[in-house]
Amino acid sequence: MPSRRTVLAAALLPLAGGARPASAAPKTAQDYYDRAAKLAGDDPVLKALVKALSPDLQMPAVQPVKPFKIFDNVAVVGTTFVQAMALLTSKGVILIDAMGSPDDARKIIIPGLRAVGVNPTHIKYVVAAHGHDDHFGGAQYLADTYGARVMMHKADWDLIAKERPEHAPKRDLEITDGQKLTLGDATIVFHHRPGHTPGTVSPVFPVRWKGRRHTAILWGGTNPPATTAAKRTYLSSVRTAAVAMRKAGVDVELNNHGGADYGLTRIEQLRAGATKNPFIIGPARTQRFMKVMETMLRGRILQDQQKAASGRSTPTCC
Ligand SMILES: [Zn+2]
Ligand SMILES: [Zn+2]
Repeated sequence: MPSRRTVLAAALLPLAGGARPASAAPKTAQDYYDRAAKLAGDDPVLKALVKALSPDLQMPAVQPVKPFKIFDNVAVVGTTFVQAMALLTSKGVILIDAMGSPDDARKIIIPGLRAVGVNPTHIKYVVAAHGHDDHFGGAQYLADTYGARVMMHKADWDLIAKERPEHAPKRDLEITDGQKLTLGDATIVFHHRPGHTPGTVSPVFPVRWKGRRHTAILWGGTNPPATTAAKRTYLSSVRTAAVAMRKAGVDVELNNHGGADYGLTRIEQLRAGATKNPFIIGPARTQRFMKVMETMLRGRILQDQQKAASGRSTPTCC
């Protein structure tokens, strides 16, 4: 067996024939995408994220998703396109996201919650993770029907005040960075993570699985925005979030578009009786998730710069 010193010396030798070592700085967007794919390896959650952040993202066909409690205190309702998550506390429900319309609230969210034993009249807060209509569309209906308060970051209240989209809720509570909301036995912490939109919020909150406590992040907006400046903002949010998540001991990763993080499949694994909760990925894998996100965004930014010369732009959605 070679000595440790020999191995180190060999590792420091320049590669013959001009080949670049694997750790060389990426020179093209594809280098970044390849690096992200390598980081993801055969991890289905990370592979799904690579795909979701790729420029050629295809949105899934919209099908209903059977509601399910993915944690003792978290229920998911929605479709294959977008989901809302209900955080169940001892004093009522905090609903994160409200799908696309009053009809979605009436036909999917309310019966979905009832189907998993959650009383929708107990919804106290509806949090729109960002100001796109697939996240706030049912909020006003739930506010009018159950007296729930609607929460969104100021920047996205401003965004919808300017764009006046259909089904926009009436301006209600403003979320600020680091704000805590306690309802009964749960405290949710709102982190402003701009990028997907100026007011995207990624909440961190306690979840329980078979009585054991874990800490979850719900990434509030995943698809990279159209402009390079906004992508840079997103990249900065990802780096800040990764540090905060490490400090908070985040070991559960959730997404409101479950196609982006293998979430839809993970729901089905649980429904099929998985004994280990596949949403509990542990702190190290959670950090790798953020590293994949960072690497893909660096590629997208570089791709923008390359496209700028040719005058093409990338369409965005959701
Ligand atoms: Zn969306
Ligand atoms: Zn969006």
